[in-house]
Amino acid sequence: MPHRKSLSLVWRRYPQRYQLIGSKCLTCGTHFFPPRDFCPKCRRKGEIVEQKMKGTGKIHSFTVVRVPQEGFEMEVPYVLAVVELDEGPKLTAQIISVKPDEVSIGMPVKMVFRRISEDGDSGIINYGYKFEKA
Ligand SMILES: [Zn+2]
Repeated sequence: MPHRKSLSLVWRRYPQRYQLIGSKCLTCGTHFFPPRDFCPKCRRKGEIVEQKMKGTGKIHSFTVVRVPQEGFEMEVPYVLAVVELDEGPKLTAQIISVKPDEVSIGMPVKMVFRRISEDGDSGIINYGYKFEKA
């Protein structure tokens, strides 16, 4: 039975969940998030290193979600967006602290860490990244 003390272990196991750790190809300069250990451009010539993303970017596209997902303590409607990081990679995340009708494509955003859900049976709290207006 998992215990709340195990939270730090969960965090250590999934560092990219709370630090936006990606990777970068030193050969061509392309950034990856989630991290990849292989550059599709450079292939075997690509030298990959771990790279922390700044956590800033802009909204590439978005949808307004009006039906709540089970286990997610979020009020509907909420905004789910594809965020293009300043480094280039795109990721999907919830946009918070802004009303759905105030969100627009190209809007600058920054990453914040928020509680995503709590598993009622195990007591494990899941944290993850969300974005808010920069
Ligand atoms: Zn490369």
